[in-house]
Amino acid sequence: MTVRSVPSTLRHPITGVPFASPVPPGSGWPGDPADASTPVARSERQVATLAASATDLHQIDARSSVCEACPRLVSWREEVATTKRRAFADQPYWGRPAPGFGEEQPRLLIVGLAPAAHGANRTGRIFTGDRSGDWLFAALHRTGYANQPTSVHAGDGLQLSGVRIVAAVRCAPPDNKPLPTERSTCAHWLRREITLATPSVTAVLALGGIAWQATFAALAALGWAVPRPRPAFGHGVQVPVVTPDQRRVAVIGSYHVSQQNTFTGRLTEAMLDDVLITARST
Ligand code: SF4
Repeated sequence: MTVRSVPSTLRHPITGVPFASPVPPGSGWPGDPADASTPVARSERQVATLAASATDLHQIDARSSVCEACPRLVSWREEVATTKRRAFADQPYWGRPAPGFGEEQPRLLIVGLAPAAHGANRTGRIFTGDRSGDWLFAALHRTGYANQPTSVHAGDGLQLSGVRIVAAVRCAPPDNKPLPTERSTCAHWLRREITLATPSVTAVLALGGIAWQATFAALAALGWAVPRPRPAFGHGVQVPVVTPDQRRVAVIGSYHVSQQNTFTGRLTEAMLDDVLITARST
């Protein structure tokens, strides 16, 4: 990657406020859940401790958004944030983990894989600022979960209703491929997020096979009753699972909204709308 000289701060494309890249916690980025006093996890053990002691989703958002437990991913996300893509060279990059986004008491939990290097790693909001997000948020708007069809940047007015979106791995990985150790470290955040959302959740939508695996692994670790062997991933596959307090929840599979799937027609708008409508009816 070519290293270019950039100003130490650049203006946020919506608010016009100048920020360093990566963005220091509590410096005014729209929707930043953390501040300078938010505790930072620097090992898997610390992730486990900070996740387990988080009392609400806002605390999970804050703590995970400053996490530094995976050295390879911290290095990559910050390198991308400082070198930038040419098209975004005039923008500050978030350069931190992408926390969950959406309602604190969602009926639907959407689980994706990981932030995109120039998407959420730039904008600070999961699935925001890339083609995958364009597809997902347009579908959420068509099916009544979002107040607008686009999600271009934190601070753009987007609000979700009845849904929360999380990533199985919260830092942008090189080549979109997190290592197994990175997936297992970040799973502590995912598990705690699921636990805190469980009272309201009636459906979990897994985007892609890796999110499907991560979802079932998390549910099993949390003591949910899940089928064994675990059901194979497929678009539209719906699997009933049971929470520890004996409530039925549907886990639904969807092809990922990656360009590889949407450009080729493997995933169409109608297919994505169908799984979202199915999730709403559970
Ligand atoms: S991938 Fe997850 S556990 Fe690893 S540094 Fe990022 S937020 Fe922390």
